[in-house]
Amino acid sequence: MKPIRLKQTYELLTAYKAFRPNNVSIENPVPASAEDLLTFHSPEYINAVEALNDGNATKDAISFNLGPGDNPIYNNIYDASLLSTGGSLVAAKMLETGKVDRVFNISGGLHHAMPSYAYGFCVFNDPVIAIKHFLKHGLKVAYVDIDCHHGDGVQHAFYDTDAVLTISMHESGQYLFPGTGWIEELGTGKGRGYSVNLPLHPYTSAEILLWAFNQTVLQLIDRFNPDILVTQLGIDSHFKDPITHLHQTAQGFEAIIKEFDKLPYPWLAVGGGGYDTMAVARCWSLAFAVMSKQTLSNNIPAKYSSKYSIHNLYDIDIPSIEPNYQLNTQSYAENSVREINKLIFPTFGIRT
Ligand SMILES: [Zn+2]
Repeated sequence: MKPIRLKQTYELLTAYKAFRPNNVSIENPVPASAEDLLTFHSPEYINAVEALNDGNATKDAISFNLGPGDNPIYNNIYDASLLSTGGSLVAAKMLETGKVDRVFNISGGLHHAMPSYAYGFCVFNDPVIAIKHFLKHGLKVAYVDIDCHHGDGVQHAFYDTDAVLTISMHESGQYLFPGTGWIEELGTGKGRGYSVNLPLHPYTSAEILLWAFNQTVLQLIDRFNPDILVTQLGIDSHFKDPITHLHQTAQGFEAIIKEFDKLPYPWLAVGGGGYDTMAVARCWSLAFAVMSKQTLSNNIPAKYSSKYSIHNLYDIDIPSIEPNYQLNTQSYAENSVREINKLIFPTFGIRT
């Protein structure tokens, strides 16, 4: 999760001259305010993170899940977290004013952070805080999370409301952190049916991921008819990712982004997980290109290519999955789609 991933993405887009067209601009993030953070996080937790800003552990840090493990303390942890959260808020405000119709904050997408503790490399939950900002202005939001991990923090924040439809497509919690994201997590009260989970089996291929996405996500968003689309574009689903097991490819990832691109809603995209840093740089560059209506050549520009020893933007030599295993992943995906049809589609009056 070190910012090298962001730097390498920025460098790759710069190498492609992708920031040059007139329809593109780069905006500086502004640190989120305490008031912004308080829309989701507890004052005790915010104070605890602030007290760690010099990089030294405090006595109570561990009670907020900060310290050795997934959520290390580092110098400027508070300032950096305010900036990545603030980036998503700057993006939200740009969309609201109608100045732009799509924004990508690659440093955002920290979907695991919980109200009173850090979780899964995430300190403050920028998707939640940006969505809360939209809600304050009376807007309805569809949130789609394609990170390999369940978007548990965002689901938790909006579990009881019908103003936000949360959809998370991820590797099954049976095999991967955080162990949640089951189809039966439907939402409660007014929010029942507005929390959608699409768990998938390890080694599910790019083709099956796209099929499952098309069978569920698009119809639900269409019926919900949001004012704003928020997408979390974690690319730890990539087959080269060292900590997960889905079999996404750059091609498959781009195909999903192209489906989002067809939708008519103002679009806030945030980053997320992704631990093969070259896969992150390539896939987020592809997402940025789709969002800004550019086409990037498969040949990575020479300077970047020689610096990082990487030549193709798209994946080549995609490992094949043993046919019997592939059948298992397919029937698992079919079952998830069928269950969503049964449990969620009636809420939206979708007939199957
Ligand atoms: Zn992840």
